[in-house]
Amino acid sequence: MQRTGSGVSIDGVRPGAIRFRYRLDFTDSIAGGSTTSGLASTRLYAVARSLFVAPDPVATRKVSRPYPLVRVRFALPEDWTVVAAWDSTDAGFAPRSGDDLLSGILAAGSDYRTYPGVAGGLRFRVAVRGRRGFTDSALVDLVASSLRHATTAFGPLPVDRVTYVSDAGRVGRTSGSLQGISTIGLLWEPGELLERPRGHDTFHETLHFWFGGAMEAERWWTEGVTDYFAARLYADWRGDPRDLAALCYESWRNYERIPHRARMTMAAESRSMPGGDNTALLVYRKGMLAGLLLDAAVRRGSGGRQNLDDVARRLLALAAERRSHTVTELDIRDAVIAAGGPASGREWARTVSGTEPLTLQQVSDALRGVTGVDLPPPPVSVRMPKRLASTPNR
Ligand SMILES: [Zn+2]
Repeated sequence: MQRTGSGVSIDGVRPGAIRFRYRLDFTDSIAGGSTTSGLASTRLYAVARSLFVAPDPVATRKVSRPYPLVRVRFALPEDWTVVAAWDSTDAGFAPRSGDDLLSGILAAGSDYRTYPGVAGGLRFRVAVRGRRGFTDSALVDLVASSLRHATTAFGPLPVDRVTYVSDAGRVGRTSGSLQGISTIGLLWEPGELLERPRGHDTFHETLHFWFGGAMEAERWWTEGVTDYFAARLYADWRGDPRDLAALCYESWRNYERIPHRARMTMAAESRSMPGGDNTALLVYRKGMLAGLLLDAAVRRGSGGRQNLDDVARRLLALAAERRSHTVTELDIRDAVIAAGGPASGREWARTVSGTEPLTLQQVSDALRGVTGVDLPPPPVSVRMPKRLASTPNR
């Protein structure tokens, strides 16, 4: 990349990923951040030709500061196109307000294939580049299904359209997914398959439009309970409750290896160690199990009339009324007890405010309570599965 008189020229563009690591620094730095993607919250990033735009919306809201007005102009090679979360007629983007830009993903390249669609009444667009072991239409179908299931469970979103940018990462690079208020970046290795792990990831990212987008909460809810909902909706889509069971048991095995699991609540962990591998954090692994256990407790306590989706809808309505879009731990607890009665309050005390270790039996009982079928744990394999080695936050 070289500076020219009027902009920037880029040489040596070849097929495959380019990681610019190109940063545009904002003058004001904003402390903190919740994108949990390992990217600083005060910068524009280009990763594999995609710009991930910060400052982080949550950090901005926390300090009650208006989002800075940002104009983005691209010096693009002739045949490149830009994919952005907002509409524009040329290569210069002037979002109507800072909100338009919040956490929006910008991607630019010569080879994006773009697919528009509607799912669950919501307009979406999927932009894909690079080649994978699956077809573009399979990915578009997965995205549409995740939106359809999420909209059915949690209601409409306060945005006109959502955008997914799917880029092929470098081989050997750990997969990652990043989510904004109306955009998602899926950075996967070219060899990855569109099977349960990536399918579940996509549902997880889609659900962040609701939890993490429309509603902010403690991280164990935003990440862990979101992971549970993603697993349940993914299994619904597949029509096989064994998918839900496999993902929950995997979470339990990871949870069992977390050394501080009986020492710390999820909220305390969040305050003391905000980053890290998601297989080693309670907010993800115990958070997912808390979703399952609370769902089972609410169903049991209400005689099957209510479930955790009802709780989530109540919380989303609460968040919509607040400028911060934030619900507190107490709001969540009240909503759980309102739906599931005192017995679900006891589950809350044990799982969310307590540190008593969760057992395999509890997971298996809760799976039966939620699905109505017996889903015993799979036999433990002697070799550690490869994907436990390193999974980034998402
Ligand atoms: Zn996430």
